[in-house]
Amino acid sequence: MRETFLPYNQPDLGVEEVEAVSHAIQSHWITRAGITTQFETELSEYLDGVPVLALASCTAGMHVALLASGIGPGDEVITTPYTFAASVNVILHAGATPVLVDIDPDTGNIDPNRIEDRINPNTKAILPVHYAGHPADLDAINTLRDRYRLTVIEDAAHAMASGYHSKKIGTHGNITAFSFYATKNLTTGEGGALVVPDPEVMEKVRMLSLHGMSRNAWNRYDDQGSWFYTIEVPGFKYNMTDIQAAMGRVQLKKLDAMQRRRQHIAARLTAGLEGLPVIPPHIQPHVDHAWHLYPLRIQLDAIHGDRADVIRDLKAMNIGTSVHFIPIHLHPYYQKQWGYQIGDFPQAERFYESEISLPLYPTMTDKDVDDVLEAVSVTLARRLR
Ligand SMILES: *Cc1c(COP(=O)(O)O)cnc(C)c1O
Repeated sequence: MRETFLPYNQPDLGVEEVEAVSHAIQSHWITRAGITTQFETELSEYLDGVPVLALASCTAGMHVALLASGIGPGDEVITTPYTFAASVNVILHAGATPVLVDIDPDTGNIDPNRIEDRINPNTKAILPVHYAGHPADLDAINTLRDRYRLTVIEDAAHAMASGYHSKKIGTHGNITAFSFYATKNLTTGEGGALVVPDPEVMEKVRMLSLHGMSRNAWNRYDDQGSWFYTIEVPGFKYNMTDIQAAMGRVQLKKLDAMQRRRQHIAARLTAGLEGLPVIPPHIQPHVDHAWHLYPLRIQLDAIHGDRADVIRDLKAMNIGTSVHFIPIHLHPYYQKQWGYQIGDFPQAERFYESEISLPLYPTMTDKDVDDVLEAVSVTLARRLR
């Protein structure tokens, strides 16, 4: 058994990030200014030239994306129950109604075959989540988008570096929201970025994300010395800062190397789990998995005890794990307010009951990975029926 606790997640930050952040602070441009603009340019280059706006978070991005797309009270937005609360909360913040559609039991992503049944004249948007970094079925979703003239807002919090038919997530013609939260594949501590293909919608998003002002802070203090601005809508304070962007620029430079490490670890985990009573992550042939998470499912009928027991055993063997996600319809707020109950989305519930997210991050050593594998195999062997 390993002697020290292996945390479930840890960001890959080093001297380069420290120096970049320190440099930003010394420049005195600590809020949104030139470094954020550079970060946006580099993100755009990474994503085949799509227009990018850096923001305070993925949640902020999805919120203003819905508003800028004209979605509000009376409108319905189709999304998945198998996600973090933010994906649904932003729909409520826009005043619209979330409509949940159960998942594909293989990938954990929204089941494209169940979406069309829930489309009606009030449906305005689909908000798919690329669970764990495995892209949702964008071919099917974009077909529905075009057939019913819907907006698609991709929750790509897990999907920085994911690909679909050899094209990166963020380049499939939809508004796409990335997260740079501490646990995500690329981090700025807190932060996010929004891809907005339509220039008019981008203008609205830009305005909504900075008080509804017609010009952003950088332009306000530019060479023209212009003090003038107008408020066009009551907007929000959702901008990224240069301190965050400084970290983000370093992380983006490291991203390919970090992704190679994630792929290596995921492959090692999958190979090492062979023969155990588990279902490793399923990967469709036309996708590039970003390996944000390694969602392992335990074959509960083959062991004594439940998922919580396995998590406890692993912790006792110094292995940290997590669970993604507690389905939306099992949380008290959505049950009380929206009448959801247990049994509404059986595939999401089944996935949740047996899921454990194993440690997977670039700074893990091969020895760390072997320790995870040993702990999982010892635990399951002890519990075998
Ligand atoms: C992390 C996460 C978010 C929220 O990202 P923030 O940048 O923290 O707002 C949204 N959706 C999913 C699926 C996430 O995992």
